Amino acid sequence: MEAYSTHLTSLMEELSALPGIGKKSAERMAFFLVGLPEQRVKRLTDAITSAKQNIRYCRICQNFSDEEICPICAKEGRDKGKIMVVETPRDLAAYERTGKYEGVYHVLHGAISPMLGIGPKDIRLKELITRLEGNVEEVILATGSSLEGETTAMYIAKLVKPAGIRVSRIASGVPVGGELENIDEVTLLRALEGRIEL
Ligand code: ZN
Repeated sequence: MEAYSTHLTSLMEELSALPGIGKKSAERMAFFLVGLPEQRVKRLTDAITSAKQNIRYCRICQNFSDEEICPICAKEGRDKGKIMVVETPRDLAAYERTGKYEGVYHVLHGAISPMLGIGPKDIRLKELITRLEGNVEEVILATGSSLEGETTAMYIAKLVKPAGIRVSRIASGVPVGGELENIDEVTLLRALEGRIEL
């Protein structure tokens, strides 16, 4: 990219490192950004910096949160005895959109994958185990139906069951390998309602 200034080139390189952004898109975005009024650029960079600096993990469920404890964990009406375990904050958001789930969540921020070298210690599992010392009646395993999701669900089930806590797995019907966040609300609800005790 010698035809461009080094500043522009490095902007394009940063952009093309983002997920789903190829070289062509990065080039288009870079030109768009440098063409923006200074104020708009500042708004964008401020939003990125502020998100990075201020978002933290909820002390209880590990979801991204502005506060030490997220609004879901802080809400009185939620059933704290029911914990739904999901892989990502986006999966949590998908279940929240159904508006029908009254329990709380636990976000693992990943799944166990021996192939990728991701073990139980690399996801937020320890934090879940700590929570089980409280009054928990049921752990609902809502990790994905991919190999990693299934492996993670089975691993957690083995850990939780001996504690005498009910463990269930959301029903299949969620397409194999399907990302939870892409599934419509009706299917999600059906998967939740049809969950099977392990
Ligand atoms: Zn929380």
